[in-house]
Amino acid sequence: MSSDQPYEYRRRELVEPDWRRFPGWRTVTREEWESAQWQRAHCIKNARQLRAVLGDLVDERFYADLVDDQQRLATMSMLVPPQMLNTMVPDAPPSTDTFYADPVRRYMIPVASDRRTDWPSHPYATRDSLHEHDMWVAEGLTHRYPTKVLAELLSTCPQYCGHCTRMDLVGNSTPTVDKLRLTLKPVDRYDAMIAYLRTHPGVRDVVVSGGDVANVPWRQLESFLMRLLDIESVRDIRLATKALMGLPQHWLQPHVVEGLERVARTAARRGVNLAIHTHVNHVNSLTPLVARAAQTALEVGVRDVRNQGVLLRGVNATSADLLDLCFALQGEAGILPYYFYMCDMIPGAEHWRVAVWQAQQLQHDIMGYLPGYATPRIVCDVPFVGKRWVHMVSEYDRERGISYWTKNYRTSIEAADPDALTRTHPYYDPIDTLPESGQRWWAKQQAADAPRESA
Ligand code: SF4
Repeated sequence: MSSDQPYEYRRRELVEPDWRRFPGWRTVTREEWESAQWQRAHCIKNARQLRAVLGDLVDERFYADLVDDQQRLATMSMLVPPQMLNTMVPDAPPSTDTFYADPVRRYMIPVASDRRTDWPSHPYATRDSLHEHDMWVAEGLTHRYPTKVLAELLSTCPQYCGHCTRMDLVGNSTPTVDKLRLTLKPVDRYDAMIAYLRTHPGVRDVVVSGGDVANVPWRQLESFLMRLLDIESVRDIRLATKALMGLPQHWLQPHVVEGLERVARTAARRGVNLAIHTHVNHVNSLTPLVARAAQTALEVGVRDVRNQGVLLRGVNATSADLLDLCFALQGEAGILPYYFYMCDMIPGAEHWRVAVWQAQQLQHDIMGYLPGYATPRIVCDVPFVGKRWVHMVSEYDRERGISYWTKNYRTSIEAADPDALTRTHPYYDPIDTLPESGQRWWAKQQAADAPRESA
C-alpha cells in the first residue's frame, strides 16, 4: 500500500518525562514522585507556586497573564498535580514560547490571552449547560436517561480542568463563579442515592462520579460501591476518574489496589460490569505510570478501562492528535478509546469549542485506522437531549451555526411533557467559526438584546 496516507502510524513507547528538568524539582527522588501524598502535597494552585517550580524558564509575562485569567475570567480554580505539569513540554526544559504553545498547558493552566475577546462566551452559554442540577432526583444524583444515573459523590477533584463542564459545582469558587454547594453530609447524600436506586429498579447503570472518585476516601467509596452491588437491578457501574491519568499514584496505592480488587471480585461474582472511565485529552499525558495504573486496575479484575476525552481547539482537534492519542491509549496503556465529547457550552469556552461540522470532519478522518471497537465516537452532549453522535444532527443552519437534534426518551423533568419526543433542541457552533454573514447576524442579535438586558 502507498505510504502516502493522511496519517502514518508509528509505534511510540511511553516515557516518563524527567521532572528534574524543572528548577523546583531538581532534587525530587523517584520515591517521592511515585508517592500519592507527595503529589497531592505539591499540587500547583497559583502563579506563585508555578513560579517556584518553573523559575525563570518562563518569563513574568506568562505569570501575569495567568493571574489576569484567574482574577477576571477563569471558571475553575487552579489545581495541577506535578504528574500533569510534568507532561507539559515533556522533552526539554520549557521556554516561555513552548510553555504557551503546549497542548496540556492550554487546558490545565489557561491564561487570559488564550481566550477570545470577540466572543469569549456564546450568548447561550450557561453555568450548568447540561442541566444536570435540574435533573437531580436526590442531592448529586442526576437522572437524565431512562436506565442510567449519574451519582456525583462529591464536588472536588485532584486536578481542575479549565474547561470543566461541571464548573457550576466542581472546585472552589472563583472571582467570576460562585459555585453551587452540596449541603448534605456525605453519608446522608450516599444514603439518599442508594434509597432512590433501591426504589427504581428500571435504573441499571450507575456512573459514580463527582468531581473525581479519587477524592472520596477509599473506605467510603468501597462501602458505597458494595452497597450499589447489593442492589439487584444495578448491572453496570462506571467509576469516573481523571486522576487515573492526572494522579496515577493514587490508583497505585496498595490500600486502593486491594480495595479495588475486593470490589471487582464482588462485581464479577454478581455479574455486574465494573469499569473505570478516565479523561485523557492528549497523547503527552500518557506515561508509563498512567499505563501501570490502568493495567493494575485490569489485573485486579476491573472489566475495562475506557477514555472519554474532550475535543478542544488548540489541544487535540486535529485527526493526527486524536489518532496519536488513541493509538497510545489502545496500544500502550490498555485504555479503550471510547468517546470524545464536544466541549460543552459553558462561559469562557469559545476558544476551546469546535463547530459540529468540524467534529463531523474529524470523525470521518479518524475512521479506518484503529480497530473498529477502539475507534472513538465523537459526541455532542445536547442540552435537554443527551449524547448524540455528531452525524445524528437532524437539521443544521451552517450560516448561523445552529444545529437541531431530536431524542427518543424523556428526561426526569419531562415526564408530563407531551411534546418531549417530537421537539427539536438546538446546539450552537462557536460564532467565530461562522461565515461573515452569520457572525453579523449574531452581532445584531446581541445588539438588539442589550437594551432589554439592561432594562
Ligand atoms: S476531572 Fe472532570 S470533573 Fe474534575 S475538573 Fe476535570 S473535567 Fe471537571
